[in-house]
Amino acid sequence: MPDIIQLLPDHVANQIAAGEVVQRPASVVKELLENAIDAEATVIKLLIKEAGKTLIQVIDNGNGMSRTDARLSFERHATSKIKKAEDLFNIHTKGFRGEALASIAAISHVDLKSKQEGQELGTYIKIEGSNIIFQENISTPKGTSIAVKHLFYNIPARRNFLKSNTIETRHIINEFQRVVLAHPTISFSLYHNDNEIYHLGSSNLRQRIVTVFGKKTNEKLVPINEVTDIIEINGFVAKPEFAKKKRGEQFFFVNNRFIKNAYLNHAVTSAFESLLSSGYHPSYFLYLTVPPKSIDINIHPTKTEIKFDDEKTLYAILHSTVKHSLGQYNVGPVLDFER
Ligand code: ADP
Ligand code: MG
Repeated sequence: MPDIIQLLPDHVANQIAAGEVVQRPASVVKELLENAIDAEATVIKLLIKEAGKTLIQVIDNGNGMSRTDARLSFERHATSKIKKAEDLFNIHTKGFRGEALASIAAISHVDLKSKQEGQELGTYIKIEGSNIIFQENISTPKGTSIAVKHLFYNIPARRNFLKSNTIETRHIINEFQRVVLAHPTISFSLYHNDNEIYHLGSSNLRQRIVTVFGKKTNEKLVPINEVTDIIEINGFVAKPEFAKKKRGEQFFFVNNRFIKNAYLNHAVTSAFESLLSSGYHPSYFLYLTVPPKSIDINIHPTKTEIKFDDEKTLYAILHSTVKHSLGQYNVGPVLDFER
């Protein structure tokens, strides 16, 4: 019998990887914003057209890329962020898998413009479905602009699976909020169909939360600060009287990365004890800082789940810190009719 196994061509492999990394326009938003942050940008602009279905563009003032790096950035497993296996357990950047741009370029049309500090001209690359159409010199500001057009143009099943513009925009805004809350000192703006949705100047954490969620948020916040040998916890929980029936503003960041974790959520929620009536969920914005070596981020391509070395101890510290802070603020139980 003849041998039948073949290595898949790169563009096919990229399309398969894209299925994991890019679920919807919001996934592209996340990847591009994170790349801008890793490039040390201080001002980041996000432009969306038709809920990201026709355009997602991120413009940053970060470090930019050389001509060669700009081409390489679209190769799979091409990254400037890690070099060896050990680095996987000491991650200091948002990205490290070297997969996002290759995946995105496999399923869209991409225009990349980039220039490094001190260069006279930058580089401009046009890619359609993994094929480089051209690369030329261009005059462009320092930093990088990536425009992703016609997402899923070559995967009709995926394109048809997209939800309404309202729902896809909601996903984008959620993703945007997670990123801007993780990086209050960076300026961000978001434009949808040329309308400004957010304009956030460089600020501290409290100001950033208040600008994103509204002035009234300010009076709701109880500060949380705790430092131990294995974890530092900062941020805020909302006072119990502002708890919501719908699971609302609940944010965990670990080393400035938004994560979901039902176990730690329980640590916080249960710390409210009788202060919450049943069916109500507290809002919180909690920033956990742990040694990078004590977590594994490489569990899922989207990196919203991570594994902690000692989850039980973290649970206990988080629970008692929140409980203690609520107590200090003297927030007594609120009766149902007072809501
Ligand atoms: P990763 O972020 O995991 O390294 P990506 O596919 O997202 O993988 O990006 C590949 C590489 O392209 C990055 O490692 C980085 O060197 C470069 N890059 C991507 N976006 C930018 C940007 N906005 N500014 C500077 N360099 C970038
Ligand atoms: Mg990346």
